[in-house]
Amino acid sequence: MITRRDLIARGAAAMLLPALGEAAIPRNRIRALRDAVRGRVLTPGDSGYNAARVVFNTRWDGVRPPAVVQVRDTADVRAVVRWADRYDVPLVARSGGHGYSGNSTSRSAVVVDLDRLDQIRFSDGIATLGPGARLGDVYARLAARGVTIPAGSCPTVAVGGLVLGGGMGLAGRAMGLTCDRVRSFDIVDAEGRRRRVDDGALFWALRGGGGSFAIVTAVRLRTRRVSNAAFFSISYPRGAREEALARWDAFAPRAPSDLTAILTLTGEGATAFGQYLGSAPQLRRLIAPLGGSPSVGSADYLTVQRRWAGRDDPPRSAFAASSTYVTKRLGGNGRRAFLDAADTGATLILDAYGGAINRPDRDDTAFPHRAARFRVQVLSYAAIPTARDRVKRARRSVAPYGTGAYANYADPDLTNATRNYYGANLERLRRVKREVDPGNRFRPAQGIRPT
Ligand SMILES: Cc1cc2nc3c(=O)[nH]c(=O)nc-3n(C[C@H](O)[C@H](O)[C@H](O)COP(=O)(O)OP(=O)(O)OC[C@H]3O[C@@H](n4cnc5c(N)ncnc54)[C@H](O)[C@@H]3O)c2cc1C
Repeated sequence: MITRRDLIARGAAAMLLPALGEAAIPRNRIRALRDAVRGRVLTPGDSGYNAARVVFNTRWDGVRPPAVVQVRDTADVRAVVRWADRYDVPLVARSGGHGYSGNSTSRSAVVVDLDRLDQIRFSDGIATLGPGARLGDVYARLAARGVTIPAGSCPTVAVGGLVLGGGMGLAGRAMGLTCDRVRSFDIVDAEGRRRRVDDGALFWALRGGGGSFAIVTAVRLRTRRVSNAAFFSISYPRGAREEALARWDAFAPRAPSDLTAILTLTGEGATAFGQYLGSAPQLRRLIAPLGGSPSVGSADYLTVQRRWAGRDDPPRSAFAASSTYVTKRLGGNGRRAFLDAADTGATLILDAYGGAINRPDRDDTAFPHRAARFRVQVLSYAAIPTARDRVKRARRSVAPYGTGAYANYADPDLTNATRNYYGANLERLRRVKREVDPGNRFRPAQGIRPT
């Protein structure tokens, strides 16, 4: 008979097993790493290791990397890469840890934690940002200079992962994706060299192709002057969801580019909301085609970004998510498929594309989804087995009307993930990977492999 005590003992053994696996890096090598860097090197059993290893999505709390290096500067990054080269250890970079799929942690790769490389500087219209800079701080510091960059709405997402995967937010249709504003990157390459990249194949790959090519230590972005913004929201009851979707689909992807409008669909109803770089009365007139009873306002630009952020410090949470891009207007069957998806219990978030996002061609940067009318994200915060099931069912329902997926909403359950993320740019990304990292030193989950 198996007693409760046996079960506890087995549980404890199971908990120890990964810890044993992590000892894969011999102590003398960890000592060499500690000698090489000024930042902390945390390994299993060290105090601070558990806090250092976890990412935003608590779904990945069981992942225990062999070491986390909290680098202090670019010299530390170079030292880690040279160390990894010497002992042939895979690396994964982490900036803000908000990657959905746990792609900035790993069971086998050493984590290079860039949280402290969080500089935010502004000069001559260019923002120079460390990869660890958080969006809330970036918006605030740039607003003090009367400028901004287009980026996401979560205040604790960091610039590093955001820009490497694209970067879409409420200024997207007016200013483009975050990656579209990049003038240059500072990187440490697979051989541990520091380089500035502002042209050529690697510059192309870093704008949307993810963290497989180099470790980014700074990024320079063209800013745009802003002072105020107007905003709106409209709530629709469950019975009006299909009409809301039809109105939004006809209007939002073709609206003037100073307006970015988003639609959320749930089992209970729908909400349209968005941001306009103009006045509130103009916005009220503009959104008349969306129907409903809009609430409209305006404020200084930073106040509006804080409104989208909700709170300064969102708590870590567990969730499952996926996405796809819709290039054609939905017909009645398509709209009903979207409502069926919302009725699984997942939330659907539709971000209008068009405007500045669709001006570049598909192969101008590694981000390929330039023909989209909108992107739909399916998201669930239910307990993980339920959340995964809801997201899978919801994505299955909308998939016939979509193509591809957003790399920054990385979905570990997606088959052919890199094809979905990078579409027809995948082959070129593989060529760049072979050129700059043939030994596959940088190894994020669902990353680009040299073969
Ligand atoms: C609550 C929440 C809200 C979000 N809102 C938006 C939104 O409004 N718009 C949007 O576009 N996205 C949004 N995202 C998605 C977000 O853009 C991505 O998850 C992004 O990758 C997070 O960047 P990070 O640096 O915080 O993540 P990390 O987990 O640190 O990194 C993500 C990936 O990028 C790689 N990487 C990170 N930094 C570097 C670097 N310096 N050099 C090389 N590789 C690196 C990592 O290895 C990993 O593969 C949101 C995510 C969350 C959790």
